[in-house]
Amino acid sequence: MLTGKEIMHVRVIDARMTRPANPQALAKKLPGKKISGVTRRGKYLCLELDDGDMMIIHLRMTGVLTFVEKGASQSNWPHLSLILEFTDGDSLVFQDQRRFGTAALLTAPEAASLFDRLGPEPLTRSFGAVQLARLVRNRKRPVKSLLLDQGVIAGIGNIYADEALFRAWIHPLREAGSLNEAEVKRLSGAIKSTLRDAIKLEGSSISNYRSALGRRGRFQETFRVHRRQGEPCPGCGGSVEKIRVGGRGTYFCPACQKVTPG
Ligand SMILES: [Zn+2]
Repeated sequence: MLTGKEIMHVRVIDARMTRPANPQALAKKLPGKKISGVTRRGKYLCLELDDGDMMIIHLRMTGVLTFVEKGASQSNWPHLSLILEFTDGDSLVFQDQRRFGTAALLTAPEAASLFDRLGPEPLTRSFGAVQLARLVRNRKRPVKSLLLDQGVIAGIGNIYADEALFRAWIHPLREAGSLNEAEVKRLSGAIKSTLRDAIKLEGSSISNYRSALGRRGRFQETFRVHRRQGEPCPGCGGSVEKIRVGGRGTYFCPACQKVTPG
């Protein structure tokens, strides 16, 4: 969809998006570069450029990227933050209701040093119970906080951490190092299945203009505990509760997710 396209023009509508860099710097440097590949690393979407540089976009909580074909209208789109226009008339539009999303242009060494700090990718083949057991070993922090730490495992956001812990029947406040072998195995499987379901329902990080509206929010409809406090748990019918773990709103079922190893 994007590979091979040449950037003609960059419109930074919300200057906060490129902080601390000046939006004009990004707008000046990008035109003329061609996209040679699109990858994902952790929570970053990476546009690889033909000169070795990389444009990275972090969607944060409410960011949405939409590919817009030539001729389709972009007027009256709410919360526009950034638009990349290509020489063939297509464009890539970034909308962000809460405006926490970021974009940056990095050199190859800068990108490498950023990604060196990220933990392993949970959807790779090498990630599994063995690797997760190594990552939680002797960790005193609550397992939920550990899952959110991008330096430990890359790419698990707040929603996915809640949903994975529910699927694995593990209480979010359990000390990570206290998980037994069976729990680690359940959790590694739950992380993979949660992320896979999210990708299946929301498509790739970039939705197409024509299908964007219909597709948006479908994973949200499948949340089992996240943002469902007071509603019945899909496992036992009891009430879903909300607490805070490491400052993040955390949803779980106190009956299904035990505080003690199980
Ligand atoms: Zn339950």
